[in-house]
Amino acid sequence: MLQHVANVGELQAHEAFGHVEPSEIAGLLEEAGRFFSEVVAPTNRIGDIQGSQRNPDGSVTTPDGIVDAYQKLVEAGWGAIAFDPEFGGGGFPTVVGLAIQEMLTSANMGFSLCPLLTQGAIHLLDAHGSEEQKLTWVPKMVSGEWTGTMNLTEPQAGSDVGALTAKAARNADGTYSITGQKIFITWGEHDVADNIVHLVLARTADAPPGTKGISVFVVPKFLVNDDGTIGERNSLECVSLEHKLGIHCSPTAVMAFEGATGYLIGEEQTGMRSMFTMMNSARLSVGLEGLALAERSYQQAVQYSFDRTQGGRPDLAKGEAAPIVEHPDVRRMLLTMKAYIEAMRSLCYLNAKAMDDAQHAADADMRQAGQELAEVLTPLSKAWCTDLGNELTSLGVQVHGGMGFIEETGAAQHYRDIRIGAIYEGTNGIQAIDLIGRKLPMRDGAAVGDLLDDSQSYAEALSGNLSSLTKPLIEGVSACREAGAWLLANRGDAALAGATPYLRLLSTVVAGGLLAKGAGVAQAELAAGATGARAEFLTQKMVTATFFIEQLVPAQLGLMPSIMSGNDVLAAYQPAL
Ligand SMILES: Cc1cc2nc3c(=O)[nH]c(=O)nc-3n(C[C@H](O)[C@H](O)[C@H](O)COP(=O)(O)OP(=O)(O)OC[C@H]3O[C@@H](n4cnc5c(N)ncnc54)[C@H](O)[C@@H]3O)c2cc1C
Repeated sequence: MLQHVANVGELQAHEAFGHVEPSEIAGLLEEAGRFFSEVVAPTNRIGDIQGSQRNPDGSVTTPDGIVDAYQKLVEAGWGAIAFDPEFGGGGFPTVVGLAIQEMLTSANMGFSLCPLLTQGAIHLLDAHGSEEQKLTWVPKMVSGEWTGTMNLTEPQAGSDVGALTAKAARNADGTYSITGQKIFITWGEHDVADNIVHLVLARTADAPPGTKGISVFVVPKFLVNDDGTIGERNSLECVSLEHKLGIHCSPTAVMAFEGATGYLIGEEQTGMRSMFTMMNSARLSVGLEGLALAERSYQQAVQYSFDRTQGGRPDLAKGEAAPIVEHPDVRRMLLTMKAYIEAMRSLCYLNAKAMDDAQHAADADMRQAGQELAEVLTPLSKAWCTDLGNELTSLGVQVHGGMGFIEETGAAQHYRDIRIGAIYEGTNGIQAIDLIGRKLPMRDGAAVGDLLDDSQSYAEALSGNLSSLTKPLIEGVSACREAGAWLLANRGDAALAGATPYLRLLSTVVAGGLLAKGAGVAQAELAAGATGARAEFLTQKMVTATFFIEQLVPAQLGLMPSIMSGNDVLAAYQPAL
């Protein structure tokens, strides 16, 4: 995926990544994989069973082994790999960081949220903080010695962030006093690091209503002395932790700020603009959670399908049993998981590569193209991958039969853990609205059109035993073009009613194109004489792409009536209380 679909080798041409040898990336990922398997993955189950607990004094104790695993993560430096070397980062591309983050998330999603939120806070500070703010906060957050949070949500302000009421009163010394309550704050309080750098959205005294009036502040758990050492405790507190369906390892805090000292980032009333700069990367990271948990669920399901034996195959004598992996229906479930996993990975990695181009290409046109591609792909990565994360972890349970429903196999945990992915960081409904309201109209539909042109050219380039895939893929591309044109011509509620199925169709077709591209490379390498394990790997790439394009892409064309029927029937529906 990195080499053949995301073309990670191209990144070496950007000055920032001149030192990144594409041939060394595989070794780096291998090393990271070992670390996450050995150090983080074993904490997944205990994290789920024990959960993080709030103590009567407002402190929070994380499950057994989490402090140690976090400390080892900081020492190993995996969390810092894709950050700017100026702040102690490894200077690797986002796409490499994302591949590492995928493994961290597979290992323990609840745990992975701590570095994930820190990463979002670093991006915001890096883009909008003053030099002094960056120097004070960012290096310690890049190293992981301090962690970060994002405080947006309040009881009345969820999707509608503009409804938030937390107050920021300007003090004589230029700092602000922050007062208000935030809910659902991920890793809002914990025991794994010395300080927590909360980024808090609040309103100044004369701010207009809605998103325009929002400012963003750094509000640390502990103030920092001039020499960089930790100073006095700030007046903020975790007043409770939520009891949740999953990600029990992650403390989800209700935070009370009582005149806490805050430092304005950027100008007053530019908070939402600042948030938007980190939103693409945060949304991609959440989309990645769908992929990461589907991957772990798949690995477990494959293992179970070899271990579990049952009778019932036509070729077996009475009383004989065989591994369930021999049943076509079980193979259908496993291959559906594998094909969607590879499709999601292709989409997410391309999305990250586009972000790298947007930020680091020397050529302005390439930066612009990267930015546009990242903008279009982000809602797809976020919503499609988390929806699929739900569906595929459910299939993972199904492969286990009754044992999947029993907690001790661990299959059910993945299903519970990923459920939140479709909800936070902008619900998937909001992502679909973003796609049709902001992204599809870019250049009057041409930004999405260019992406579909790529899918079409990958389809047309297929040959030999892949040539039967050209037709279903091109039919998918044509359906996307027709649906996109309809949505552009029918704005308002009519288009809003079709947004979610359109996102699903478009994501499937675009990812199908990427799998076709990868399959074409695999085919060429096989023809050039690949042998042994490499040949088997390449053959399996072609099998997976064939299944995806022949069976999964055409199934999505059935969404066309849902996309283009407008709002009439939804408006006619009268839910009765
Ligand atoms: C475990 C967990 C961790 C979280 N972590 C954080 C965090 O660290 N920081 C933080 O600030 N927040 C966090 N959140 C909050 C999260 O981002 C919100 O729950 C989310 O944005 C949705 O808001 P809501 O819950 O108020 O749902 P609502 O906004 O009430 O939405 C309810 C339903 O209505 C739909 N809906 C709402 N408005 C519209 C619209 N305009 N158009 C179409 N449909 C709409 C939604 O799609 C959804 O299906 C977390 C939440 C959870 C559960």
